Amino acid sequence: MLKIGIIGGSGIYNIQGIVIKDRKKIITPFGDPSDYYVIGEHFDKEIIFLPRHGLRHHFPPHKINYRANIWGFKELGVERILSISAVGGINPVLRPGMFVVPDQIIDMTKRRESTFYEGEEVVHIDFTEPFCTELRSAILKAGEESGIELQKLSTYVCVDGPRLETKAEIRIFMNMGIDIVGMTAIPEANLAREAEICFAIISVVTNYAAGITGEKLTTTEVMKVMNGSTKKLESIIKQVLLFIPDSRGCACKYALKDARM
Ligand SMILES: [Zn+2]
Repeated sequence: MLKIGIIGGSGIYNIQGIVIKDRKKIITPFGDPSDYYVIGEHFDKEIIFLPRHGLRHHFPPHKINYRANIWGFKELGVERILSISAVGGINPVLRPGMFVVPDQIIDMTKRRESTFYEGEEVVHIDFTEPFCTELRSAILKAGEESGIELQKLSTYVCVDGPRLETKAEIRIFMNMGIDIVGMTAIPEANLAREAEICFAIISVVTNYAAGITGEKLTTTEVMKVMNGSTKKLESIIKQVLLFIPDSRGCACKYALKDARM
């Protein structure tokens, strides 16, 4: 059975309508993942869900054990990961509540373990396209089919957090042509690539980034928008599952070929 991983972000701790069969605790060489992996079934696919911040939302973005999380998916035989995340909108066309499917990423993190290979083996994965093109097209097709507007061709900048950004930081990001800011896509995307797992994101714009509107940013606002988007998110996720082809036609499964020194 095809195994699809889903990483749930802030406010997303399960998916309505997916029948849960099992919960698995995985121990990895990198420590403990954020929580149990919840295993469910939807049509002919096995869905493996992990709440990124833990079920009690007790891991802030800079404390998440990203390596353990991705390793656990690999161990469970997952070949594709669909990641859900909350982001701030930098591009003024993006309003809270809109969905974005980024195609590029800029890494502004400084203090994260972002590779599985730090010992004897030296690996340089190709990251020209940081997200799986096949999984992205499944998401975009699902958006068309369900009539949910998705912004494509967007650049995501990943910062460490947990603080939000300054006005000057956002101004610089905007001048760089960046559309959204978040705290989790790095190292999830690059670790998934090292694990030869397809990875793509649906980002929910939960707020305007700092200085865009002059209003104070609050987590209440973020959670309100995220909770308000849950139904729409669940319906698009279920659509995406229908558009994921059984066998992979993308290059993700060969990510380590010609990447070792
Ligand atoms: Zn792929």
